[in-house]
Amino acid sequence: MRLATFSYEGQVRIGVLDPLENLLTDLSSIAPHLPKNMSSLIVLGVDGLNEVKKTLEKADQDNQIPIDKVTLNAPIWPPVRDPFAVGRNYHEHAKEFHDSGFDATSGSKAVPDHPIIFTKATTSVTGPFDPVPAHLDKTNTTDYEGELAVIIGPGGRGISKSEALNHVYGYTVSNDVTARTLQHQHKQWTIGKGIDGYCPMGPYLLTSDEAGDVNDMHLQTWVNGELRQDALVKDLIFDVPTLVATISENITLLPGDIILTGTPVGVGIGFQPPVFLKSGDLVKVSIDPIGTIENKII
Ligand code: MG
Repeated sequence: MRLATFSYEGQVRIGVLDPLENLLTDLSSIAPHLPKNMSSLIVLGVDGLNEVKKTLEKADQDNQIPIDKVTLNAPIWPPVRDPFAVGRNYHEHAKEFHDSGFDATSGSKAVPDHPIIFTKATTSVTGPFDPVPAHLDKTNTTDYEGELAVIIGPGGRGISKSEALNHVYGYTVSNDVTARTLQHQHKQWTIGKGIDGYCPMGPYLLTSDEAGDVNDMHLQTWVNGELRQDALVKDLIFDVPTLVATISENITLLPGDIILTGTPVGVGIGFQPPVFLKSGDLVKVSIDPIGTIENKII
């Protein structure tokens, strides 16, 4: 299923997309007994999903809203806590970042021995078509990073690699927008990657049961129609099970937690000289089979 969080008639609601008809079934109206936000639905696990499926069978026009009549929010809204994210997790991007002069952390090695885990502020999370307020970056060095985001279902601590995918509720598309000068000068990445509005996500949460093999997912990023990133998720240095196992070995994962898995080669600092985003640019990140987010730079 493609689950969505959306705003309609002044209320934040959750729903299910019918991709053929472009209609959203409004779970808030048809199933008032279900939770009103996505992370609470995720807490119900498989039982919650089965309840949603049952509800869909009785949906009719009164409960369906054309997609162009709503504003899509990030699928997990509000976020449970700061999304986790991963640095330098595709080989060619690791080299590109290492060689750019903007990485204050890598030392002599481009490819890390262990996953580099950081977090983005909850206040950076925005909807799939919201503008990115790059004017907040006083250093004018804002860059894009198209990324697959993993949504955790059953939480836990000490999750093994072999069990990890059983803890993945689904997937969505994200852009780990980054102010490169701030990322570099503050050494830690919290400020450079945590600016308000610097984590657009969506448009839907594609549940694991319909997502197929995550390694086959295909990520592409365009800036003003020019293809900049083009990669398969199977090219990750540390794959999804490794990331879930690594984080949960130390930090208890919670239902609804978000993990941005890293970006492939092709970001703006890979150019000579670097090319940063400017007001009016349009960044589009697409992951087949999830969907596409599109964000104007303002
Ligand atoms: Mg990133």
